Amino acid sequence: MMLPPSLEQLIQCFHRLPGIGKKTARRLAFHLLSTEGATTLLLADALREAHEKIRLCTNCFNFAEAILCPICSAPQRDSAIICVVEKPTDILNMEAGGFYNGTYHVLHGALSPLEGVGPEHLHIAELIQRAKTYAHEVILATGSSTEGEATALYIDRALKDTNIKRTRLARGIPAGSELEYLDEITLRRALEGRIHL
Ligand SMILES: [Zn+2]
Repeated sequence: MMLPPSLEQLIQCFHRLPGIGKKTARRLAFHLLSTEGATTLLLADALREAHEKIRLCTNCFNFAEAILCPICSAPQRDSAIICVVEKPTDILNMEAGGFYNGTYHVLHGALSPLEGVGPEHLHIAELIQRAKTYAHEVILATGSSTEGEATALYIDRALKDTNIKRTRLARGIPAGSELEYLDEITLRRALEGRIHL
């Protein structure tokens, strides 16, 4: 089917997103264009606004609109406890339960020699510096995948010569699963049962 170029471009944009196949991309584009124009404009405005306003927190690398994210700037959060996660979405899951009062550090990935991801590609140096400056405990909450385990091990070793307590989320998390797919109860148990490294 020949499509107008602008429509083809819109479909391509959706298709570039993770988990969106060609058919879904088409369906989304056609849906948007067949609804009231307001929906399309709202989406366009939201995308532009997020693009312009969202940056990374200079302390933990979570998404933020200011220099510090809402968690880092909250006085009631315990900044001496740092929970290390791979992605900003992992924070949402931890926060959903409301049982964690420490802070976070987002690595934006995990070590993967096969894919050429080394420590210098993640925010590990900033974590080490942060931890050495004021942390009592670093909770290594990277995934249980090979990459997640390797990342936790690397950070554990980097902090070996300090007095900082290093803990890892307890097992009970299904092997190979990512934090974002866990229910709150499993995650809460894993946090409570975290083990000394
Ligand atoms: Zn932050």
